[in-house]
Amino acid sequence: MQRIGNLVGGKPVETTSGRFSGVFNPATGEEVAELGLSSAEDVDAAVRAAKAALPAWASTPPLKRARFMFKFKELLEANADAVAREISREHGKTHSDALGEVQRGIEVVEFACGIPHLLAGEFSRNVGPSIDTHSDRQPLGVVAGITPFNFPAMVPLWMYPVAIACGNTFILKPSERDPSAALFVASLLLQTGLPAGVFNLVQGDKTAVDAILHHPDIKAVSFVGSTPIAQYIYATAAAAGKRCQALGGAKNHMVVMPDADMDQAADALVSAGYGSAGERCMAISVAVPIGDRTADALVERLLPRIAKLKVGPATDKDAEMGPLVTRQHRDKVIGYIDAGVKEGAELVVDGRGLKLQGYENGYFVGPTLFDRVTEGMSIYREEIFGPVLAMVRARDYDHAAKMINEHEYGNGTAIFTRDGDAARAFADQIEVGMVGVNVPLPVPVAYHSFGGWKRSLFGDHSIYGMEGVRFYTRLKTVTARWPTGIRAGVNLNFPNLN
Ligand code: NAD
Repeated sequence: MQRIGNLVGGKPVETTSGRFSGVFNPATGEEVAELGLSSAEDVDAAVRAAKAALPAWASTPPLKRARFMFKFKELLEANADAVAREISREHGKTHSDALGEVQRGIEVVEFACGIPHLLAGEFSRNVGPSIDTHSDRQPLGVVAGITPFNFPAMVPLWMYPVAIACGNTFILKPSERDPSAALFVASLLLQTGLPAGVFNLVQGDKTAVDAILHHPDIKAVSFVGSTPIAQYIYATAAAAGKRCQALGGAKNHMVVMPDADMDQAADALVSAGYGSAGERCMAISVAVPIGDRTADALVERLLPRIAKLKVGPATDKDAEMGPLVTRQHRDKVIGYIDAGVKEGAELVVDGRGLKLQGYENGYFVGPTLFDRVTEGMSIYREEIFGPVLAMVRARDYDHAAKMINEHEYGNGTAIFTRDGDAARAFADQIEVGMVGVNVPLPVPVAYHSFGGWKRSLFGDHSIYGMEGVRFYTRLKTVTARWPTGIRAGVNLNFPNLN
């Protein structure tokens, strides 16, 4: 059995705790690797390597740091297919979906290639008599990232290309459920010739996370994962005096106005609701048609589209949706479907009990659709993170906007309409961080920034883009006066009689 360990000081090293956890292929249920779980000492070894590399790296000219990113981009492009296979083997998502994730990660590397320009400061001449002021952004030091299972390559790439390009050294703690993609991508980063210790990776669970949160030499923590853990990370990191951005869970609503193109809206709901088996923090999990006529028109169009979806393993080229990540998660999602039925929602399409020939032990759940869901139900309030779409019939636009604004999560949302006024009011007033207008998954491109509102993000900065640069640097402002001295003996004025 393959054993997965850490990367410290530019070299693979084994974990020393003696604790291991299994990594599974979710399509077959087979254990594919054994993951070493880091101890606090293992984390400390990584921090020491990162700290040793820091002074030289922080003072390396940004242009030279950027050159490692250019090489990294080339290596990622050349190996995109292999990275995607690593993702699918442990996560379960389809190959094309995994390739899409790799591409979005590469785009953050491309953004980081521009770091000399991004770090350019500001200068004001003569803020007082012969006094000038300049401001620029300096790295924080050793920083860490803790990432979730659902984008095992992309979410780490949201963090460290920007952090490293800014002059920090980095420690990544990927998800213990699908650790191989992050490790493989990290090996590509090391192939650029990056100095040892600038990037380190520790595998593990809560023990490793807590060691990061309490380590005095780690200055900042980026986290992406579920809301309860995000809140814990933010509170613990802040109490330890660290800068922290902690991105949490989501419940993303898509409003369908009566004037929307219903076929386009139905396509969008199926793609954004069931893509990656609903295991996306930007997945649409609540459809909000305005009025019963809109709702009926939508259900009529959703049913044949859902019936056509092909569920299967990533090795099947025709599969559009894979399994869930673990047996426990599969059981949790089925538990939510049971709860929805008990709470009185109308189960229109039932994905429970799906069995695929040859993959009987895989963690598959078919696409599921509930209609007539109400705001008090657990399937409305809580994040399911599976292929379960809940339809809440709104009385009118105000009802829809109110339900979104009152929801505890505020990651993404979308409106489908042909009416510019409705779209503009929605974009303006809705209390959600990322808004789509006729775009179901409004994931910002790498040169904007990604982040939700309310309990979808704890901290002051969104991730990647300029927000990432701000998060991974601190502002220094220098005010300088140079009194006249050496020049006093020389007078270059045009001689005159005065
Ligand atoms: P998770 O919170 O279970 O795990 C995330 C990370 O936290 C992992 O590295 C894990 O090892 C660690 N962790 C888990 N339990 C811990 C504990 N008790 N103490 C300390 N560390 C702990 O999340 P997940 O299931 O891997 O990922 C899915 C979640 O992530 C969903 O809620 C999804 O919405 C969210 N997510 C959010 C975004 C976003 O940008 N807002 C993006 C992707 C995923």
